This record gives sequence, C-alpha cells and structure tokens, in this order.
Amino acid sequence: MAGTAQIRNDWTVAEVNALFALPFNDLLFQAQSIHRQHFDPNEVQVSTLLSIKTGACPEDCKYCPQSAHYTTDVEKERLMEVQKVLDEAKKAKELGSTRFCMGAAWRNPKDRDMPYIVEMVKGVKALGLESCMTLGMLSREQAAMLKEAGLDYYNHNLDTSPEFYGEIITTRTYADRLNTLQNVRDSGMKICSGGIVGLGESANDRSALLVQLANLPQQPESVPINMLVKVEGTPLQDENDLDPFEFIRTIAVARIMMPQSHVRLSAGREEMNEQMQALCFFAGANSIFYGCKLLTTANPEADSDQMLFKKLGIRPEAREGFSDAVHETVINDAIAEQSEPALFYDAAK
Ligand code: SF4
Repeated sequence: MAGTAQIRNDWTVAEVNALFALPFNDLLFQAQSIHRQHFDPNEVQVSTLLSIKTGACPEDCKYCPQSAHYTTDVEKERLMEVQKVLDEAKKAKELGSTRFCMGAAWRNPKDRDMPYIVEMVKGVKALGLESCMTLGMLSREQAAMLKEAGLDYYNHNLDTSPEFYGEIITTRTYADRLNTLQNVRDSGMKICSGGIVGLGESANDRSALLVQLANLPQQPESVPINMLVKVEGTPLQDENDLDPFEFIRTIAVARIMMPQSHVRLSAGREEMNEQMQALCFFAGANSIFYGCKLLTTANPEADSDQMLFKKLGIRPEAREGFSDAVHETVINDAIAEQSEPALFYDAAK
C-alpha cells in the first residue's frame, strides 16, 4: 500500500520516550495519520470475552483477583461445559461480536483439559466467529493442537517491561512468556499480546513494554492495552491512579510503533468516560471487548457501547467470508454436534 508506515522491529527505549514526550496534539495527530494509512478510522473490531474457568490460579500476578495467592470476591468455577460456552458464543454473535475470546485462569492447560478446549474452538469456529483463547503458558504440542482445531488467535500478555516484571509476577519469568509467544507463532496462529499500565511502573517501563512488543520477530496482530483495575484483596488495590492522558499517550505510541496491529482498548474501560474512550479511538485504538464481563472485572454493557458508537459514527468492523445463510446452517449443525454428552466436562470430578 502506498504511503503506509514502515514496520520496524528495531525500536529503542530512547526513541519511544521521545514519542511519549511529544506535545499531546502532535502525538495524536501522528498516531491518527498512521492509523488512517492502514485502517478505516471509523471501524472498531468487537470481541467478546468469556471466562471458561475462573479463579484458583496458581500464579501470583499482583493485579489479578483470580490468583489463589489473594483473597478476593471472585467465585471459583471449574472448566465450563462445552455446550454452555457455545451458547455464550452464540449470544455474543447476536450482539455483534466477530471474535469470541475464551479465558481460563491456569498456569498452563493440562492434557486432560485439551479435548474439551479443542471442542470449544471447533464449536466457536462453526458459528462463524473468529476464536481466541488465553490459557496461560503453552507447549509447542498444545499450540499445534489448538491450531489444528482452528484457533485463530492466542492471547498471552507480556504485562510490563522486563525490568519491572519481577515486581508484579514471581511464579514465571519473562522468558517463559516470550517462549509461549514463540510457540504460538511457530504453530501459525495469530498473536494477541499487550500489557497493563498503572501497575506502579515508570514511564520508562511503559516504553520498554512497547519496545518488547514491537520488536518481536513479527508484531502481534492484536495488542491489548489494559488500564489496571484495582480489585480489593489484590496487592495493587491501593495503587495510585495513572493520569488518563498517559494512558491515551500509550495507545497513540502503540499505534505508531505497530501500525498494522489492532490496538485494543481493554480492561479498565469501565472507568473511562465516553470522552476518554473517544480520544483513545482517535489515538488509534480500534478494538474493544463488548458486553459481558471482562473476565472477572466489569465491562460497559453492550448497549452503552452501541450508543457511544452511534454518537461517534463508529461501525463495528465486519468479518468477511460468512453470509447469514451460511451462519444459520453452521449454528444449527454446531449445536446438534455439541449435544453429544461425551464432550461435556464433568465438573463434579
Ligand atoms: S493473570 Fe492469568 S496467570 Fe495471572 S493470576 Fe490471573 S489468571 Fe492466573
């Protein structure tokens, strides 16, 4: 495409700090100009996220209410039945989602879980939705199985800079995360990877996180930028608020560094007013989670999102390749196929 921004994998933290230091209007103008070279500025991709296994996670991510290390109000739930997952996927599709993301609070999936996971992927694909999963660390073999089942995206966030990482998580290393991303990439699946801001990290850490993401051998197709949601009972419950402009700047810098990636306005959107979300869209965010609960933290209801889209003249990004008639057939087929009881996970075991 003529006039498109060059993809670079050699960013330095100093260069990124310089972008953050630009006057706000200059930064947003640059981000929006790059955004328009690659995307329709009035389209936002819409995903729905469902927690398919909640709480009791052995990892100690300090921001996370699902960690077994902290006492929070999250109700633990075992792996959801395949049919229930597909019912939720169908609802998400009716609400306008084009991608269905399934998250499990695991360090990594166990072999005994894989047959159920595989059936979930197949069922969601048969509904005509793009599929994404986040299940923790993945081996090469597991990544290959998920790819074979038809999984489009795998989410695994880097969370923060390598330097600050040890302050937030001690149960696995930055190298472990990069290794999972490599396994996902090698399998041929697309990568969804981003981070969280407002964890108490420095401005330099925010730049260093974006450098890690942009300098991956191939940039992630999807980059969620989360604002910390302070949940009671987690070690970060009393963390200081990040200046909202710093969050918007992070979106803009991510857009400039990763011009072809969908930059997702992710956790923390509940606490953003409409004006802030509009500025995030202007800065280059072009993907959101819609309706439902964002794993265990509240997410604005689908209706309020629809109203905001209307006010801003934004359309949900369409997914090509499936007509309504095809949809109808695949939904019915998938539901008939998934009624097979052998596919259900027995939560009592
Ligand atoms: S962020 Fe994921 S890996 Fe970390 S504690 Fe929460 S569920 Fe577990």
